[in-house]
Amino acid sequence: MKTDILVIGGGLAARRCAHEAAKGAKTLLISDGAGASPYIHALNVPLLAEDSVECLMEDTLRAGAYQNDQELVKVLCRKSLSLIDEFSFDKKNGEYDLLKPLGSSCPRAAAINGFAGPSVLREIEREKKFDELRGVRALKLKVKNGRVGGAYCFDRAKKKWFFINAKTVVVAAGGFSGIYPFSTNSRDIGGDGAALCLEAGARLCDMEFIQFEPSCAVYPPKLIGKSVSTAMLTEGAVIRNGEGKRLTKRDGCVQKDALSRCIYNEIANGKSSPHMGVYFDATGVNPEELLHGRYSAYFRRYADAGIDISKEYMEIAPAPHTSMGGVRINPHCETDIEGLYACGEVCGGIHGANRLGGNAGLEVLVFGRIAGESCLQYALSHDYASDIDFEEADREFGFAHRRTELENILKNCLNVVRNGADLMRGARRLEELIRETPFDFSFEQARLHNDLMCAYAAVMSAYERKGSVGSHERIDSIEENEKYTVEFMLKNGIPKINRRPI
Ligand SMILES: Cc1cc2nc3c(=O)[nH]c(=O)nc-3n(C[C@H](O)[C@H](O)[C@H](O)COP(=O)(O)OP(=O)(O)OC[C@H]3O[C@@H](n4cnc5c(N)ncnc54)[C@H](O)[C@@H]3O)c2cc1C
Repeated sequence: MKTDILVIGGGLAARRCAHEAAKGAKTLLISDGAGASPYIHALNVPLLAEDSVECLMEDTLRAGAYQNDQELVKVLCRKSLSLIDEFSFDKKNGEYDLLKPLGSSCPRAAAINGFAGPSVLREIEREKKFDELRGVRALKLKVKNGRVGGAYCFDRAKKKWFFINAKTVVVAAGGFSGIYPFSTNSRDIGGDGAALCLEAGARLCDMEFIQFEPSCAVYPPKLIGKSVSTAMLTEGAVIRNGEGKRLTKRDGCVQKDALSRCIYNEIANGKSSPHMGVYFDATGVNPEELLHGRYSAYFRRYADAGIDISKEYMEIAPAPHTSMGGVRINPHCETDIEGLYACGEVCGGIHGANRLGGNAGLEVLVFGRIAGESCLQYALSHDYASDIDFEEADREFGFAHRRTELENILKNCLNVVRNGADLMRGARRLEELIRETPFDFSFEQARLHNDLMCAYAAVMSAYERKGSVGSHERIDSIEENEKYTVEFMLKNGIPKINRRPI
């Protein structure tokens, strides 16, 4: 199979990229689920007179503990202005109806028709000019003479492996929180994106920075893993431990990482609610009508489960939510490998040590478009690097229990707080698991191999960063808050870690 441009992923970053690329070249998008994009409620745009690109930039850097790639942040924030002409952000009584995400100095998270992600996805679908193969997963990239040539893919329905030749490939496969046993992410997003690029020879960065969503339901069973908006904490909601003691101030002025640690510690110190969480008390949301308006989705969700959140507490705990680390890109979305681009949550560097709420939606729209423009230019001036004709049946894999082991390693060593001894133990066991699970044309084995590679990069990066910063808390911290990026790469198959000063 042949296409000029291959886009891997079915979320907003991939679709925005494919939409742009298809304006000038034959573009094929492969997807294996919806990813996190349909959950994007609102995204940051400096719409108020008191707000500005500079203010958004400063909030983004402060949230990221100044560990961000400043060039990428500049692009993210400057290009936010172009979205104002492109989309109709929601208004109420003639004024923009904005949320104030935790850590933002003013309200700026804007929805589109009530929910930004689904609205933009629908718009792209209406004007779709690219081809799409659904239920198809890319599990390995082909690199020839230093250039990407395409991807080995698996078709779930046909249970067949095949190869897609492409002049250029864009990886937009989302974040990797889905490799954890309990996360806010769906299982279609995992370690593939990072692992594909890593094994193709590209650098990863910031893999140790994983944002835990502080407020994910641990009860009732049908809501487990569903997050509750922390924006409510800026409007009167508070967090309480199992004894009812208030852990947050009424103004909600706290970053997600600090809140996750605070909750994690309360639970670890035995002050949990009955289901190993703490209480999210929304009874003080002011005015109460907000629960029936802006936050009605949460109100209804809990009401359906028999809980009235205007009168009763919710039980929540932190869960992995956003991976800030991933593939290293430059402002044109180029990776280290010629012809290979990346955009969206699969990339590292933009958010630094902690992502400002609402910046992911902005990131996928801004960098999805840039990736589309860049790969189109490349495709128009290059020929194919490979010409592979390949089809093969799936092979059996009899070691599913290794996935449970991977999940336990992540839970034990790459949680809200970390320490060096556990990380090193985890890394050593992951090395063994990777040796026992090499890439093969077996879907289950290839997926596990990629998730193991991704986990290994994250655990090794977390080991390398000896100090605590942002979402990375080392209880054995031995470093002051030094500014550097941890880069992880493979050189002739051997892992290499590099500290690059910021
Ligand atoms: C519950 C929830 C609520 C959120 N709310 C907000 C919000 O209000 N505002 C905000 O800014 N951010 C929010 N985020 C974060 C935001 O949703 C994500 O960061 C963003 O959607 C990432 O977009 P993406 O296109 O990079 O990846 P995704 O949307 O996750 O898409 C990844 C895609 O890649 C596909 N894929 C993965 N691996 C492969 C493979 N090997 N081959 C083929 N396809 C593959 C997946 O199936 C999926 O289609 C939220 C996240 C969650 C989980």
